[in-house]
Amino acid sequence: MKYCRFLLDKQVRYGNVEERDGKLWIAGPASAPPEDLAFRLAHVLGAGIGLSFAPLLLSSAELLPPVTPSKIVCVGRNYRDHAQELGNEVPAEPVLFFKPLSSLLAPGGVVRMPAASSRVDFEGELAMVIGRRVSKLDPDVDWRKVVRGWTLANDVTARDLQKKDAQWTRAKGYDTFCPVGPIVSDEVDPEAGLDLETRVNGELRQEGSTRDFLFSIPKLLSFITAAITLEPGDLVLTGTPSGVGPLKPGDRVEISVPGLGVLGNSFASDPD
Ligand code: MG
Repeated sequence: MKYCRFLLDKQVRYGNVEERDGKLWIAGPASAPPEDLAFRLAHVLGAGIGLSFAPLLLSSAELLPPVTPSKIVCVGRNYRDHAQELGNEVPAEPVLFFKPLSSLLAPGGVVRMPAASSRVDFEGELAMVIGRRVSKLDPDVDWRKVVRGWTLANDVTARDLQKKDAQWTRAKGYDTFCPVGPIVSDEVDPEAGLDLETRVNGELRQEGSTRDFLFSIPKLLSFITAAITLEPGDLVLTGTPSGVGPLKPGDRVEISVPGLGVLGNSFASDPD
């Protein structure tokens, strides 16, 4: 199963994504997940949703974030080499923080770099999309019964503000600081090892494998849900490998994992 969320004739749609000739296509309508209440309301009101449409290239679609989460939970320092490159101890437990929903940004959207920061970094990450309400999961939980699928995210970070502020709310939470997409897929297996790459203006800057997670997927799910109930559609960003670095206005960041497409976003100074 691979799907995306996009705009067609100003209507939100879900599309089945298929790979043909090495390219990703939106082949036809997909059913909406239960948590997208705005979509379901529009459907009830007969806004023409569910109508068929001609196949279109994913890259030519007006994509939206493929998820409508109730929260975005992030894991910091989940790759040993990234913890060390920032001079941090390798943690004994996962480090958790939130990004606000207002930071969500569609694939292709422009990240606005705030004037209050002089160092905005990219962090390419694999993100899990939760499939059902879960709380207090066991450390040996079968994650396939909890996770609907996987997508890509950029945990954009104002590194100077992260160091300056006691809490990371501002550094991690500016509007547009959470690009997500382009698709959700359950056809990839992070436990078998997924190769994540981040490019800046075409140059390879991050190269990591999910085999190098400090904390396994069941361990993350158990640790998070010991404190926080996860709902269908919630996002869990699983941390970034080494190679993070500062960006300048005009840069373009592309994050990719085979089978999940490419999440591409450009960066620009916030006009305000
Ligand atoms: Mg991160």
